[in-house]
Amino acid sequence: TQRSSDMLVDYKPIKWQEIGGLEEVKIRLKQTVEWPLKHQEAFSRLGLPHPRGILLYGPPGCGKTTLVRAIATSCHVTFLAINGGQLYSPYVGDSERMLMQAFQQARAGAPSVLFIDEIDSVIGSRSHDGSRKSVQERVLSTLLNEMDGIGIKTDDIVRSGDKVHEGQQHTELQQALASTVDNSSVLVVAATNRSDMLDDAILRPGRIDHIIYVPPPDKEARASILRVHTSKIHLDDATLDQLAERTHGCTGADLENLCREAALYALSEDGIGTNRVTCHHFCHILETFKRSLSDDQI
Ligand code: ATP
Repeated sequence: TQRSSDMLVDYKPIKWQEIGGLEEVKIRLKQTVEWPLKHQEAFSRLGLPHPRGILLYGPPGCGKTTLVRAIATSCHVTFLAINGGQLYSPYVGDSERMLMQAFQQARAGAPSVLFIDEIDSVIGSRSHDGSRKSVQERVLSTLLNEMDGIGIKTDDIVRSGDKVHEGQQHTELQQALASTVDNSSVLVVAATNRSDMLDDAILRPGRIDHIIYVPPPDKEARASILRVHTSKIHLDDATLDQLAERTHGCTGADLENLCREAALYALSEDGIGTNRVTCHHFCHILETFKRSLSDDQI
């Protein structure tokens, strides 16, 4: 069996500017995730709720994981990531234990973001058989319990302390409790490629506060993703525009691969000493380049 610490991975930090396109998604994430994490004191002071759970959905390779890395980087919070597929175990109690351990680590390092990628592979219900269903139900109830545990509102605790402590003592208690709760905040961000997760088990209990669609890149977004991944070779705007036009159906991950392959082709064609990757190299690779997205995904 696996221990959860084997599944917790460190992601490379990344800045918002290194993510091309997705402008609206970035703004929404900054407002709903970054502000409450960065300005915890202000949010508590004004009684604004902290989000407990966010679900990102959209086709693979279009930036869900990358966005979560950017959140963790910009907020300077602990970032823990587990994969739904790795979480699945046929041994009774194993999946739940791994999930609980992940939450424990997230709490110990709070404030933190706990990212659960491909959550459908452990919780999605539609396509699974009976034996798997019971694991799903147990994992889901563990997830919801853990999210409840981290979702206690400062106000609730302070209210229960009211009767015992009064005046100055009360204020001190209030402050102490507020800081304890704020410091233990863990935000769960789940990701899935399956849009049928939206009306599924995880959404119904209401622990997910925001559902955010991460769309495939349009032409303009493709140009900015290409700009990010060609920052060392400085392609001019006209070339970027032309390549964006010709890469319909590409995900962000495809575009990153395209840039890598074009650079390798330049090295092989023009010699290892070259420092120029041009439209010619990109066009050669594009002739046989496979796009991940089908028309119904775009
Ligand atoms: P999956 O559903 O398969 O986990 P995902 O939506 O989480 O996919 P990412 O893992 O974020 O996709 O993206 C894969 C790679 O593609 C990343 O390494 C990243 O460099 C690149 N990429 C994807 N989208 C963008 C983007 N908008 N800007 C820059 N790079 C991107």
